[in-house]
Amino acid sequence: MSLTVVGSIAFDSVRTPFGERERMLGGSAVHFSLAASFFTEVGVVGPVGEDFGADQLAVLAERGVRTDDIERVAGGRTFVWRGHYEYDLNTAHTDDTQLNVFGDFAPKLSERSRAAQMLFLANIQPQLQRQVRAQCDGAAFAALDSMNLWIETAREPLLAAIAEVDCLILNDAEIRQLTEEPNLARAARAVMSLGPRAVVAKQGEYGAALFTERGFFALPGFPLEDVRDPTGAGDSFAGGFLGHLDGECDEIDEVALRRAMGYGTVLASFNVEEFGVERVARLRREEVEDRFQALRAMTQFEGLPA
Ligand code: AMP
Repeated sequence: MSLTVVGSIAFDSVRTPFGERERMLGGSAVHFSLAASFFTEVGVVGPVGEDFGADQLAVLAERGVRTDDIERVAGGRTFVWRGHYEYDLNTAHTDDTQLNVFGDFAPKLSERSRAAQMLFLANIQPQLQRQVRAQCDGAAFAALDSMNLWIETAREPLLAAIAEVDCLILNDAEIRQLTEEPNLARAARAVMSLGPRAVVAKQGEYGAALFTERGFFALPGFPLEDVRDPTGAGDSFAGGFLGHLDGECDEIDEVALRRAMGYGTVLASFNVEEFGVERVARLRREEVEDRFQALRAMTQFEGLPA
């Protein structure tokens, strides 16, 4: 099995009440691919600038992430995001976004990336998500994430992109904003009427909820006593969720989706323990499994099979 992701590859500058970092490796595709790498073969599609170094690529390569579809743009600068969080770590305040090399990026996927069974359109301009979806047309399951910026500035292409995927993974406030529907159950139903058969509403430290045609399932966030930087939690959730579905499930049925919610929760929880990718870059598969089993035991939920 294999998984292709397109999304931002970034330098993030982040301040939280617990510290700050300048220009650390980040981006939606980076957080996603590191998390997914515990379960399956994952390849990243996207551009970087000349300022992107071998050290950054090595972080991905060390986790076995395929980087040959990362295009280095001569004379270009890598995507930059700057943000901060107050004590409410559930809300990211964006201070600056510079698309840089994403401004005029035209994705061209290698044969290998096109042939993936599963596709994740991580948060980036919806027009780019659609171009990648069109090239990766053999993928049996495609999922998409986005954010308020694109809901506000590129609503029509975003709605078109959502219609082309099987699963939407979005913050709950953004699902309400997208559908202009304050009730989450109705909002999820409205998303499904556009095309997707599953909707995951991310709810920060409170966890995530899964809506499908047939069911509803929710998991709390893993209870952590030390949270330093929530940046990338949503992407790590998506990486654990889709990585498990691609690498460890024969069928994407209700049971598999629920178990995948558990792995998503676990990867997100490791991600927020330290800044940027620091924690996930040195995580081990055994630690993932231990925390997944702890989550099962804590929630005592029969529907989250071993
Ligand atoms: P998350 O905390 O999971 O929602 O995602 C945070 C990551 O998304 C950071 O690493 C940022 O670099 C990246 N990011 C922030 N804004 C954007 C944007 N407008 N487009 C793409 N990626 C973004």
